Amino acid sequence: MSFKNITVAGSGVLGSQIAYQTAYKGFTVSVYDVNDEAIGKAKERYQKWMQRYQEDLDATKEETQQAYERITFYTDLKEATKDADLVIEAVPERTDIKIDFYHKLAEVAPEKTVFVTNSSTLLPSDFAEATGRPEKFLALHFANEIWINNTAEVMKHEKTNMDHFYQVVEFAKEIGMVPLELHKEQPGYILNSLLVPFLNSGLSLLVNEVSDVETIDKTWMIATGSPRGPMGILDIIGMTTPYNINAYKGQNGDENAKKIAQYLKENYIDQGKMGISSGEGFYSY
Ligand code: NAD
Repeated sequence: MSFKNITVAGSGVLGSQIAYQTAYKGFTVSVYDVNDEAIGKAKERYQKWMQRYQEDLDATKEETQQAYERITFYTDLKEATKDADLVIEAVPERTDIKIDFYHKLAEVAPEKTVFVTNSSTLLPSDFAEATGRPEKFLALHFANEIWINNTAEVMKHEKTNMDHFYQVVEFAKEIGMVPLELHKEQPGYILNSLLVPFLNSGLSLLVNEVSDVETIDKTWMIATGSPRGPMGILDIIGMTTPYNINAYKGQNGDENAKKIAQYLKENYIDQGKMGISSGEGFYSY
């Protein structure tokens, strides 16, 4: 076994899926989030994942319940990491939040602990120094709905020790993922090098009033045979991550990204329309 005790930090859309899949595969999992309210929201998410594992994987109620019982929740980072072999970071996609988190983590985590980031668009070298252990730090990037879309992109940065790289590759296999190795840093890995420009092109067509949600998706679906178009995919991802990506680009002078961020905030986030997770996004569920 690669690692034994796993801690997942951040229990939002992706963190909760990573924690649940890891527990489902038999690991002991500690989940850390900022406060009781966030943990409360997370617990509702797990109920949903349990249902989905029963529907999608034919898991029994008992199996899904047993997996849930292997998870313990914490709002104290030191407690959450006290015996961790691996910490999987899935906190919001903002450089300042992640750097602050790694400084705190470096202070409390045991020396043996390997850290991985699930960041979609930022590079491990952006945080390597803040971790205080660059050789034990790399990226492990999952896709949404990980029990079905089971890719795990494993990406090193310049100072990552290869032993830890292969330990993480092994762990990814153990939790039922298909590990995809990147031997160089690549913004957006393989998946998002393809996906982010695609989704933003869809959003640009919408916010610049070129076309509407249904037509944009229909065009892509009929022409490529794909089951979803960009807007349908965005509903699965949730509005937070695309908002953060575009708000950040907007702050750095990208006017189109600024317009997209504003559009997502006013029309969706401020109205609680977060995508499938809230029952409504570009479509109703
Ligand atoms: P989210 O907003 O759904 O969840 C973030 C969680 O982090 C929340 O529970 C929040 O309470 C918690 N949090 C906030 N500040 C924190 C802190 N300082 N310490 C610990 N927890 C904190 O976001 P998400 O969509 O799950 O994204 C999380 C990470 O996963 C991002 O890096 C994102 O790029 C990556 N990711 C997201 C997707 C996706 O489809 N949503 C896919 C792959 C990777």
